[in-house]
Amino acid sequence: MTDQYQLFSKTPIGKFVIKNLGLPTPLVLERFENPSPVIKGAVLLGAAKTTTLSSTLAEVLNRIHANCYLHQSDLQQQASKVGLQATLLTEQTQNTKFKALVFDASGIEDAADLSQVYEFFHPVARQVQSSGRVIVFAKSPEKCKAVAQAVAQRALVGFVKSVGKEFKKGITAQVVYVDDGAEQNIESTFRFLLSARSAYVSGQVIRISKADVVEVNWVKPLDGKVAVVTGASRGIGEAIAHVLARDGAHVICLDVPAQQADLERVATDIQGSTLALDITATNAGEEIAKAVAALGGLDILVHNAGITRDKTLAKMTADFWNLVININVSAAERINQYLLEHNVLNPQGRIVCVSSISGIAGNLGQTNYATSKAAVIGLVQFTAPTLTNGITINAVAPGFIETQMTAAIPFAIREAGRRMNSMSQGGLPVDVAEGIAWFATAASSGLNGNVIRVCGQSLLGA
Ligand code: NAD
Repeated sequence: MTDQYQLFSKTPIGKFVIKNLGLPTPLVLERFENPSPVIKGAVLLGAAKTTTLSSTLAEVLNRIHANCYLHQSDLQQQASKVGLQATLLTEQTQNTKFKALVFDASGIEDAADLSQVYEFFHPVARQVQSSGRVIVFAKSPEKCKAVAQAVAQRALVGFVKSVGKEFKKGITAQVVYVDDGAEQNIESTFRFLLSARSAYVSGQVIRISKADVVEVNWVKPLDGKVAVVTGASRGIGEAIAHVLARDGAHVICLDVPAQQADLERVATDIQGSTLALDITATNAGEEIAKAVAALGGLDILVHNAGITRDKTLAKMTADFWNLVININVSAAERINQYLLEHNVLNPQGRIVCVSSISGIAGNLGQTNYATSKAAVIGLVQFTAPTLTNGITINAVAPGFIETQMTAAIPFAIREAGRRMNSMSQGGLPVDVAEGIAWFATAASSGLNGNVIRVCGQSLLGA
């Protein structure tokens, strides 16, 4: 669905009205075009202390051929060790415009040390380009031995969430907590956050734990993988199917039999296959297992199918309640159980669920939907520690995404939902799909149990 306000804001009269009324001007966000370069513009790297993590950051920046600047001279030795050609920030180069500011805060030991965050970001706060990135890598507070260190590391959430709100111009900000020993697992996340793939992800807290390091072809990170996407005939599901196929996967597009024609259209576009199936059928897991058997098993399962049946609780029928719970969560739960019990998911398999910010913030008229989407978060959190064979489960929680679902929302509520975020605009289905593709790559082995909002840093439930 088109964003009329964004189109209006580009016209001369629109610019005049918006400026005089003090309304937000939504910027057209940069989105993925090519795998290379990962980031178009200079990256400034800094660190509270040189650590194994800052060395890995330099390694990845070297691999993606980033135009890199160093904030401090003690990083020079680390950079040259990993072959990274970088320029030291000096008086001559201090006015450089940056596409990304990357700071390793893992060496911060107490609240007083947080001054290093200020010292790194303050001088360059006005030098970040549109659709730029602020990424703070940090130490998982839960794993810190000293309380003072845990407190200081936890503080970084408030910092990046404020930066996300302040910097505007489509600039995103996140904190990535890395467990000790998980430094080699950061690459897929670092690439995703630097790139235009993460256009509508901001103010997020990402947790990386130690896992097998899996090498992938970064041009086609899902090459040779078999994926099933539920609800793939339209909307977000269709975008997911396209992005997974673009990244190299064979996608089995699944939707209800009534959607067969659209399902075939999508599958033909991406040279995938179709599976007409109601996910609430008692044999849904078995049908999926049959569909992937000839393809060498299943690598990626995306639980995207979902419905809304909005009514205030007083007016809600039991049918509306039960249908939403059954489709949005119980069906996914049963399918996971069948596929895991029958070893249908290959080693390093990826399950990615689609929750919603309604499940985090709650929403008027959506007690059934918010309950189901909070249950999806529970499904991710409580399944994650039970998985073996390198299999992971994560979720994206979309905010306001421009689809048929949101087009059906009454105008005033729709306009509020669309603007109440740091990007002043709704996201696109492709933004959700990019988040799913990031979780889906085998290289994301260190991500398990994460719920990441794709909401442009919505004010709801933040
Ligand atoms: P949509 O209604 O356009 O598409 C949902 C698809 O799921 C449809 O093709 C539908 O046929 C399919 N589906 C429904 N019940 C099914 C069943 N029993 N078996 C198989 N397929 C079934 O919705 P969308 O906007 O693309 O949303 C996709 C997902 O994203 C949903 O889980 C939704 O809750 C979630 N979400 C959407 C938004 C948004 O802004 N659009 C925000 C947050 C979360």
